[in-house]
Amino acid sequence: MTAVRKITLLGSTGSIGENTLDVVARHADRFQVCALTANKSVEKIFLQCQRFHPQYAVMLDHESAAALEDKLKAAGLDTQVLSGVESLEKVASLLEVDIVMAAIVGAAGIRPTIAAARSGKSVMLANKETLVMAGRIFIDIVKQNQATLLPIDSEHNAIYQSLPKYFDGNLTTAGVRRILLTASGGPFRRSSKDELENVTPEQACAHPNWVMGKKISVDSATMMNNGLEVIEARWLFDAAPEMIEVVIHPRSVIHSMVEYIDGSVLAQLGNPDMRTPIAHALGFPDRMESGVKSLNIFEIARLDFEAPDLNRFPCLRLAYQALAKGGNMPAVLNAANEVAVESFLTGKMAFTAIPAMIEHVMDTISPTEIDTLDDVLAADSAARLGAQEWLQCQV
Ligand code: NAD
Ligand code: MG
Repeated sequence: MTAVRKITLLGSTGSIGENTLDVVARHADRFQVCALTANKSVEKIFLQCQRFHPQYAVMLDHESAAALEDKLKAAGLDTQVLSGVESLEKVASLLEVDIVMAAIVGAAGIRPTIAAARSGKSVMLANKETLVMAGRIFIDIVKQNQATLLPIDSEHNAIYQSLPKYFDGNLTTAGVRRILLTASGGPFRRSSKDELENVTPEQACAHPNWVMGKKISVDSATMMNNGLEVIEARWLFDAAPEMIEVVIHPRSVIHSMVEYIDGSVLAQLGNPDMRTPIAHALGFPDRMESGVKSLNIFEIARLDFEAPDLNRFPCLRLAYQALAKGGNMPAVLNAANEVAVESFLTGKMAFTAIPAMIEHVMDTISPTEIDTLDDVLAADSAARLGAQEWLQCQV
């Protein structure tokens, strides 16, 4: 019998968080939820506490934590409620925890995700922004502390599955020629530049194949998501940028491919359902049930591919530029993108202003080297400030 593994779920109320709990609930004999965390979603996390009885529940927001504490007490539940970033770091590092699912959205995930790696946990990484902002630093922390890093992002999980089972981190010795990172193209794949001007947040969040949080949905619509994923792949697999090619595959059946020097191309296919990569990582190296239905290849019938259009989707070009420049630029790109997405979602600017804002911020911040987490956070703050200033100049 395998020992029960204890999990901390960072961002349990989000799309990845809920999918993770769905998989965990199917394997109650193998996993035990130790801590759940959220920003402000009191009602959702309360229901999760009722169902999974974690030892800890952490809210980033102090008032939400007080509200949750009252509700739990009234319901007779003894989950301990904590709040603030330090508490997120604490539950990511608890001695008794084996697995940390890093599923907070955006730069807010970096500190608790790093805390999990520093504590040598098995880190299941959905929070791609951590790798975009602090790629080398994060990978070094993982190695120094013998943490395990398992990719949850569907493309990276597919690449991981298409690499040799015990991939040692060297693509060349593994015989890899190139990585083909698939992208759906998002809801505006066929839209003209003019049509993109008037896109609404509701349209941008209506992804054709995946149900996800709002930020990543907008990232998919601008194709920044694919740009962030190129940077993520660069660090996860120690891949030279020129080895990573983005391929538009609108049906999202192939989740990515690896081409080897003998001409073989290995792909991972499946229905677009995040429970597959989540179950793969949770069970690794064994396979386990995820609740995902069988792929109907007769219904799918064909697989189509296109090259991305960097003219209509400049965010992808900006991400390639940030990766080429290195240093602080990926963190600058990421932070400017977060401000841009939020500004678009709150009606402060047009969809097409997203790449304009990011490009301005990247052009005005001087490139510097990044050695420490403080350097990363400084680049993040400078870019947020630059983005806000740009926005104010537009009105
Ligand atoms: P989401 O918006 O649905 O959920 C985000 C979670 O993070 C929530 O639990 C929220 O309470 C918490 N949170 C938000 N802001 C926070 C803050 N400042 N501090 C602490 N917690 C905070 O997001 P999601 O779609 O589940 O995405 C989570 C991460 O996974 C992102 O990095 C995303 O890029 C990545 N990802 C998501 C999917 C997907 O299918 N949803 C696929 C691949 C990768
Ligand atoms: Mg993805």
